[in-house]
Amino acid sequence: MTDQIDLFNASGIEVTIPPKDFNPADIPTSAQVPIPPGTYKSLDPLAAHCKSCQRCDLSQTRTNVVVSRGSRTAPIMIIGEGPGQQEDEQGLPFVGRSGQLLEKILASVRIDSEKDVYICNIVKCRPPGNRNPLAAEINACRPYILEQIRLVNPKIILLTGATSVKGIMPHEKRGITKIRGQWIEWEGRQCMPILHPAYLLRNPSREKGKPKWLMWQDIQTVRAKLDEILAE
Ligand code: SF4
Repeated sequence: MTDQIDLFNASGIEVTIPPKDFNPADIPTSAQVPIPPGTYKSLDPLAAHCKSCQRCDLSQTRTNVVVSRGSRTAPIMIIGEGPGQQEDEQGLPFVGRSGQLLEKILASVRIDSEKDVYICNIVKCRPPGNRNPLAAEINACRPYILEQIRLVNPKIILLTGATSVKGIMPHEKRGITKIRGQWIEWEGRQCMPILHPAYLLRNPSREKGKPKWLMWQDIQTVRAKLDEILAE
């Protein structure tokens, strides 16, 4: 498993480029073999591969693999932690109470969740009992999210919650409350950690400085950045 991460992230290690006639369907879905950048020509074979994936033990307890929803050409990608019960049942990310709140947050600054946004998760199968994904599960699933980012090519990435930050930026040691609302450049993209909507549901106060108020500040900053990008 460590070998696989090193193949992706370690500088100085030559990354294998798949040959032109390479078929991703030939990659065993039951083994943790490297899936280098460029493996998938589009999101369809990636989704097909995810749906038969058994790279980690979450495959044993899932109902559906949850790959994505929204626009494949969206300027904003929202990355959550992992599917909950409703997402597992429906096979779509952010469709439960957290998802409904996320829709309202986006709509408050006129961001269309179908047109402007591509939504996915760090792990694509539900951790039992909604526990946090384990490091081994995040690592096993990381090649897929990196390929989703490459193929959608978003200008802005929103990382919802601490696990999402850990999944994309494993070396980031600061806590989510320290870095939320800040732009962090990652691989030439503007990333912003934001609080997870589930956290807002547990902390409903709108008072200044409380999670909902902080989210309102952050989503306005995102809207301003989107306007800036669209005007370029
Ligand atoms: S969580 Fe990711 S790596 Fe694990 S089985 Fe599901 S798709 Fe595969």
